[in-house]
Amino acid sequence: MVHVAVPLPLARLFAYQASEPLPPGVRVRVPFGARVLTGLVMSADGAEPSDRALRAVIECLDSAPLFTEEYLRFLMFVADYYHHPVGEVVFAALPPALKGNRDPGDRLRPAGLALTAAGQSFDPVHFGRAERKRRLFAAVREHEILTPATLGALGAGFARVAKDLVDAGLLARVPVPALSCAGTPGPALRDDQRSAIESIRAAQGFAPFLLFGVTGSGKTEVYLRVIEEVVRGGRQALVLVPEIGLTPQLVARFAERLGSAPGVLHSGCTPTERARVWRAAQTGHAPVVVGTRSAVFVPLKAPGIIVVDEEHDPSFKQQDGFRYHARDVAVLRGQRAGVPVLLGSATPSLESYRHARAGRYTLLRLPDRGAGRVQPAVRLIDLGAEPAADGLSPSLVRAVGDTLRRHEQALLFLNRRGFSPVLLCRDCRWHAPCDHCDARLTVHAARQQLRCHHCGHEGPLPATCPQCGGSHLMRVGEGTERIEEALRRTFPSARIARVDRDSMTARDTFTEVVRRVQAGEVDILVGTQMLAKGHDFPRLTLAAVVNADQGLYGSDFRADEQLFAQIMQVAGRSGRADLPGEVWIQTHHPSHPLWQPLTQLDYEGFAEFALRDRELTGFPPYAFCALLRAEARDAQGAQTFLRRILSLRPLPPGLTAGAVLPANMARRAGFYRAQCLLSAERRAVLHAWLRDWLPQVHGLPQARRVRWSVDVDPYSLFF
Ligand SMILES: [Zn+2]
Ligand SMILES: [Zn+2]
Repeated sequence: MVHVAVPLPLARLFAYQASEPLPPGVRVRVPFGARVLTGLVMSADGAEPSDRALRAVIECLDSAPLFTEEYLRFLMFVADYYHHPVGEVVFAALPPALKGNRDPGDRLRPAGLALTAAGQSFDPVHFGRAERKRRLFAAVREHEILTPATLGALGAGFARVAKDLVDAGLLARVPVPALSCAGTPGPALRDDQRSAIESIRAAQGFAPFLLFGVTGSGKTEVYLRVIEEVVRGGRQALVLVPEIGLTPQLVARFAERLGSAPGVLHSGCTPTERARVWRAAQTGHAPVVVGTRSAVFVPLKAPGIIVVDEEHDPSFKQQDGFRYHARDVAVLRGQRAGVPVLLGSATPSLESYRHARAGRYTLLRLPDRGAGRVQPAVRLIDLGAEPAADGLSPSLVRAVGDTLRRHEQALLFLNRRGFSPVLLCRDCRWHAPCDHCDARLTVHAARQQLRCHHCGHEGPLPATCPQCGGSHLMRVGEGTERIEEALRRTFPSARIARVDRDSMTARDTFTEVVRRVQAGEVDILVGTQMLAKGHDFPRLTLAAVVNADQGLYGSDFRADEQLFAQIMQVAGRSGRADLPGEVWIQTHHPSHPLWQPLTQLDYEGFAEFALRDRELTGFPPYAFCALLRAEARDAQGAQTFLRRILSLRPLPPGLTAGAVLPANMARRAGFYRAQCLLSAERRAVLHAWLRDWLPQVHGLPQARRVRWSVDVDPYSLFF
């Protein structure tokens, strides 16, 4: 008899008969109701089923287990921690290509590329203008055997080019040799870096570290040194980065230093690419895997270290379905695998910082900003005293003008895309609303559209007011598109680039903008947080936050933390190399207490302030929370449902439930939404109650008709 996890929101395993012994960790096809599903064997026992009616496994899809039993226990543990159906957790750990019933087989074996005899004597001149063929051919010639990871690092579409050249008889697929760690040597280390590396090196088994250092302080160099050592010892490193932090530049830097490109996993990879890297990690052929959130689940044959860069980044939290936090899962994983976990940030999450202060994590500080680098000066612009036109105050316009005259670069940051967030009729006060959400439509001027940023609804931009027929429609507030337009009017000869989700449509566009900025072909950059991270722009000396107030009085408990992180990131872009930088921040609230540590770019001062506030208000890290959410088609349904399920079981002392309230956006995409925050001073109290209570909820017939969820350790109370 085997116990199988199936990819359905059901909080249990299902028993089947098997005609042959099946090891845990293999995929099987099983009958489920009237359907046939792919499931994963979680455990097997020799017991004869007492229930004769037990159905039988149809077939086994794998000749060897995909996961070790130890790893399956880890997945069960994660499912238990997040109180999430085990089948969905297990399937989140599989790459898409392995979720179905086909065995991708040979396609996934790590195969390198080498020149055939015909390829050896081939003159690439015959490729004519086929630039990609020429590049791939040159790369194979240079590497002798080109690994799948290096092929992936060439860019999207090269797998296809490789196939063409194999079909043409110029290249052959060959086994990949064991990888060495023979990259180029790194730069000389500073004392603070050296002592951080020593501490990590001395760790025995599981040990969590918080590497705290500003942009440019050399965190990546610490990661690289530690990883080199792990790989030389025959073990593997898993590196998690935020969604927008995983750039070709980062991959190239790893490749150069480690002697071969890391396996890369992110949402832009094709299913075959993902499955190939996954398999290489699982079999130990990929010594280093770099990936975004879901990569935290990639199995490793011989784990040696887990690194989480920018550990505070919101993209590590999955916001729907299985709502895990990749940083927290990384720590759990390190604990179970007995390996060090290295969390790095210039603005650590308050959770990690508090752990470090309490001695649970080892705090490693990198105070230097590298040779000759100084922190930029920060200035506040009081928008009350100095009104802005099109979002730009006169002082900011002057500062941009001065920067251009010095032939330096400026960056204007605004976390809102589109032209303006509101379209307002001056005559009747009509606001363009979304028909499906309690939200206003954003004006997108270039495409002459109104768009909802919450449900994706799009419509044409009206010329007259649909309510009164008047023609006085005003665009209120500003997004990146408007800032760009205002800058083009004010500085007609400046070369301006805009970076946001609307302007960056193709995968390579962003890389191209980064290249142009680095080559000095751009004078002013305008954009959302996409551009706030991780790039060296040597002539960028002015960074401006166009509207900081969005984060100042946000009603979400993490708004201050996010604002601080964003401003530090923006500041980190300014003033590198030998050019001193400055940061300008526009605000209507210059006397807000947060500006004191912010204008000093003093994270620890900020953290003291923010932690006191969290303690007073009873939010994480001083409380352990779970957010219950529900959505329904009728206005009262969601709230009624939450009240009903909360009444199923009394709350123990030490656990409190807040009021059942409409969500911040009470209606989205046609659904009315409600939520309730559960909060406890001790984690165990919250989790014990959830464990007893959830089966009762699942037993309720309404629970199958209402969309509801439990978000353990919610990142945000908004959704
Ligand atoms: Zn009107
Ligand atoms: Zn909408």
